[in-house]
Amino acid sequence: MKQRIVLLGPPASGKGTQAECLVTAFGLPHVSTGDLLRSACAQGTLLGQEADVWTRRGLLVPDELAMRIMTTWIAAHGTRFIFDGFPRTIGQAENLDAVLGTLKAPLDLMVLLELDDQEIFRRIKARLSCLQCGATFSTSLHGCSLGGRCPHCGAVLVHRNDDNTEALEQRLRIYQEQTFPIIGYYEKKSPRLLHRIDAGKGSNEVFKKISNLIMESKTLKS
Ligand code: AMP
Repeated sequence: MKQRIVLLGPPASGKGTQAECLVTAFGLPHVSTGDLLRSACAQGTLLGQEADVWTRRGLLVPDELAMRIMTTWIAAHGTRFIFDGFPRTIGQAENLDAVLGTLKAPLDLMVLLELDDQEIFRRIKARLSCLQCGATFSTSLHGCSLGGRCPHCGAVLVHRNDDNTEALEQRLRIYQEQTFPIIGYYEKKSPRLLHRIDAGKGSNEVFKKISNLIMESKTLKS
């Protein structure tokens, strides 16, 4: 079974939703850099204040900051994981590979969830988030409403402060410019690591495809 998994994809492609299902099915720890940053921000820590300057405008936080939180996470939780939203730049990918190389624990699966811009805008418009537990819901699919309670933890559901048209356009531009090149980087470095999945399909179908990839026993050659 694959144990070091990265979910890659544009905003609202379902990374968080899939990660949540995979945690239940496979018991792998899930970490989202976006959730870690939002939680630091909500707690008013120095790191949170530093990150907020970038995140609220839809910009990526500097690689050094993203690496700092993720190396801390790996040191605390170990080398079994589902990463969601990390790495997000070539610099982060190179640094992550170096950290995992030192631990002799290279990535063994990267899933790229592909979704067109029109569907991304539609999903973001309908998305409500719980800033306490990180869960997300769709007003159209789950019947939740703004200001209602999170079905998981009871906190208030809100629109994230970067789930607006202006910040989303910026995030999509940045995804194309800074995150998309990671695909070429891994296709070259480790051709069998990356798998593309159409995220426009229902989440059950996407989940089945990812689960099959996790259970495949082929070993990777880098
Ligand atoms: P997400 O919840 O994945 O959409 O991330 C929300 C925001 O957190 C992003 O728009 C960035 O500002 C920041 N962020 C999350 N992950 C990273 C990362 N790996 N590198 C840089 N910034 C990140």
